[in-house]
Amino acid sequence: MLLQLLSLSVVFISGISAEYKNYDGFKILEVNFQNPRVRKYIQEIDKNLGFMPDFLGENWKQKQAHYFIDKDSVENVKTNLASNNITYQMRDVNPQIFKVRRRRDINGAITINDVNNRYLSYDEQMQFLNSIAQQYPNDVKLQKIGNSYEGRSLNAVRIGDDGSSKPIVWIDAGVHAREWISYNVALYLVYTIVSQPAYRDLLNAVQLVVVPNTNPDGYEYSRTNDRMWRKTRSRFSNGRCSGADANRNYPFFWGTQGVSHSQCSEIYCGSRPQSEPEVMALTNAIQREETRIKGYIALHSYGQEILYPWGHTMRTYPSDVQDLIQVGKAMAAAIRAVNNTDYNVVNSGDGLYPAAGASDDWAKSRGIKYSYTIELSPIDDYTGFSLPEDRINQVCREAFQAIQVLMIEVRSKFSIRQTTSSASSTSAQSSLLLKRMRTAVRGSGRG
Ligand SMILES: [Zn+2]
Repeated sequence: MLLQLLSLSVVFISGISAEYKNYDGFKILEVNFQNPRVRKYIQEIDKNLGFMPDFLGENWKQKQAHYFIDKDSVENVKTNLASNNITYQMRDVNPQIFKVRRRRDINGAITINDVNNRYLSYDEQMQFLNSIAQQYPNDVKLQKIGNSYEGRSLNAVRIGDDGSSKPIVWIDAGVHAREWISYNVALYLVYTIVSQPAYRDLLNAVQLVVVPNTNPDGYEYSRTNDRMWRKTRSRFSNGRCSGADANRNYPFFWGTQGVSHSQCSEIYCGSRPQSEPEVMALTNAIQREETRIKGYIALHSYGQEILYPWGHTMRTYPSDVQDLIQVGKAMAAAIRAVNNTDYNVVNSGDGLYPAAGASDDWAKSRGIKYSYTIELSPIDDYTGFSLPEDRINQVCREAFQAIQVLMIEVRSKFSIRQTTSSASSTSAQSSLLLKRMRTAVRGSGRG
């Protein structure tokens, strides 16, 4: 009877607000940096305020920088801004962020429907991947690449791995725990590319490796304890604070710019390069086959931006930067074709801040030609990391198109198995976009 009752009530536990860390009184600071004087203030905001506020993201369309301000710092920040003649907006935090609907289907399998409509727990994500691996045993292999600090398995999904040496496109997601949409995008990608025959030809020429959750400890912590959690969950001896910013922990210009060496900072770069087991696992896995990896994307949110290296410092670019811009613009065009969403293609270091030790810089330094960070939707600070669940599917569909463009480019540049005919109408469409972008970018040159 009890069992029956349970199975009947495939309950949706909704509207329950978790015992989240309380952020009452915290504010979102929004500063428009169109004016060069303000921009300079922003770029030295840590010196100006005496501490580095938690940088959430920026709206490139309106040139606004967004910060999360501790309730105890609100008054000081206001005074400082006023005395520096900086106009700003100080807003309340969207209360929805801290009232996450945690729906749970207690006896159903996780399907693409779940991926499209809600944020999943780490266990649910893995359950979904296992079911895909069972359903498509010839196309999908799950590979454990290591363990997180708390012992969760870090899994890579290998798609189209036929033992040949075809080029690889590597996608990883969610190194920053609070950027929830990135996980769904990675899972949607895995499902879509294996379940739709249209992509068969592409997979015959290019292998895809997806690591859908590169920071499972941080992610679970952001689901259960602290919605704003960004870092890993490493504990340090005598440390007051835990976790490091894994995207400042990669071994390339580590610890130089745009990082903090203080454990309590949101951008703490760790005690040494690869101090985080998650970063160690990822760098090892990538290095094992780096000569074959030709495309790399780290999925983040938010801001609607396609960022290309170098990001460790400003106004410094790789020698083939024009190729990166060209493919970046083709990716942005493919995204726009879905629903008119604008993504900005920009150098990581030339935005507001450089940030050393990020994964895309490291990937590029290892010789991976097309290396990017994509900041997914939204663009506004009010929605921020809590993209409403009814927008998940659209963001997934948009990012999928961008990733497909990258795969097509890798096929045309590096595949030994050139396909003679276009794989499908969607692939043909993306190829066309790429061709158009090539013509458009040629000669435009960056200053
Ligand atoms: Zn991020």
